[in-house]
Amino acid sequence: MSDLRLFNTLTRKQESFTPLEPGHARMYCCGPTVYNVVHIGNLRTFLWADLLRRFLEWKGMKVTMVMNVTDIEDKIIRDATKAGVDIFTFTAPYTQVFFENLDTLRIRRADLYPKATDHIPEMVDIVKKLEARGHTYAADGSTYFRISTLPGYGKLSQVELAPESSLSRVENDEYEKEDARDFVLWKAKKEGEPSWQTELGDGRPGWHIECSAMAMKYLGETFDIHTGAVDLIFPHHENEIAQSEGATGRPFVRYWVHGEHLVVEDAKMSKSAGNFFTLPDLIAQGNSALEIRYALLAVPHRTKLNFTKHSLEDAKSALARIESFAIRLDELAKGSDDRTAVRGAELAQRFLRDFEDGLDDDLNTAAALGALFSMIREANTAADRGELAPADAIVLRAALDRADLVLDIVRREKVVLDADIEAMIEARAAARKRRDFKESDRLRDELLAMGIVLEDTPQGVRWRRK
Ligand code: AMP
Ligand code: ZN
Repeated sequence: MSDLRLFNTLTRKQESFTPLEPGHARMYCCGPTVYNVVHIGNLRTFLWADLLRRFLEWKGMKVTMVMNVTDIEDKIIRDATKAGVDIFTFTAPYTQVFFENLDTLRIRRADLYPKATDHIPEMVDIVKKLEARGHTYAADGSTYFRISTLPGYGKLSQVELAPESSLSRVENDEYEKEDARDFVLWKAKKEGEPSWQTELGDGRPGWHIECSAMAMKYLGETFDIHTGAVDLIFPHHENEIAQSEGATGRPFVRYWVHGEHLVVEDAKMSKSAGNFFTLPDLIAQGNSALEIRYALLAVPHRTKLNFTKHSLEDAKSALARIESFAIRLDELAKGSDDRTAVRGAELAQRFLRDFEDGLDDDLNTAAALGALFSMIREANTAADRGELAPADAIVLRAALDRADLVLDIVRREKVVLDADIEAMIEARAAARKRRDFKESDRLRDELLAMGIVLEDTPQGVRWRRK
């Protein structure tokens, strides 16, 4: 079995992926901050994380995948206060929309979706460990991480001094810090804000500590993969490393995998900028969920994705090509010719090898889809020449289905073939002839259930799709 090579932000290199525990990969994905509906930029990031999980499984690994739901953080508190409701009431509908969108886009659910507010004791525990190891200081009832106490601070983002622009998310957390780059672990209670009475005082967690606590609780102090989009490299992931490694003295994450943004006219799609599309919007405009899925996965995760009408049109025609190929294979498979598979078997084998090679190369979905379309082109030519026996079609269809375990872009509803419908209509006519009305009615009902309407005409029975 060939190795998957992933670009690791920590080393700035592609590395062969081997999980810490043989055959079992553990991954943590930064999930949504549920102060608004998810947009398709967020969904792009969740989609490739699922693709990575599916591909590891495809290669025979067991995968444990955890994705957090950030349900307490500055913007949530700000907007819940504005709406005059508590944070739980405020975040519940956005959390629900997030799950609905995952299902619509065929993004498989992670094994676990821990919520930050359910893990306050675990966060306090880490802060206490950091305190004991001399990494913190208190000011005005808040607890901060003193980054000068950790020699490796900055190893992920490789920032010497954080550029001004990257400091904005830190500044949100700012109370009485000694160094601008220090960050808050525990914030003192503020009037009107939700708070927890803990050993650290009355207050609430900083944003970064949430992920360290949930990741280590479910995946261990050292685990394999951590994902997110590039905006999270600094400060969020840098600070996750500082807190986790500061508390345990062990490496936190082995492979840091970051994806590029989805952009619209060169601007990052973001909730705060308000330039975002949602999945329901795009569907209401007449795009199918499968087309959107295809458009999102066709661009490899480390390449910026410029989301345009054009990308959706391309997705539509690519999917149509795949679907008509699948139908053609199903028709061919019905033939009575019993030659063994030769040409089809050869094409299927080459396709699966190229498909895997493509994804092995840092999850290069463009190369994997390229392999699929080469296979389709060559198989169509072979079929035109009568070189494909039913056995070939069956082998090719099996290869398509195997690749689809990762891609999940082939329509699942059973495609009803014209030939099947005509065979059923003939069977119904025969039943009527022998006055077996029970059978003829059953066939008519079955056809109706498939959306086929029958019309008796002087020329015989005609049919159409509803
Ligand atoms: P948030 O809900 O803002 O915490 O983001 C959830 C996930 O979506 C994180 O991994 C972000 O890095 C990612 N993300 C945010 N904006 C975009 C974007 N425009 N394109 C791709 N991923 C994004
Ligand atoms: Zn996170």
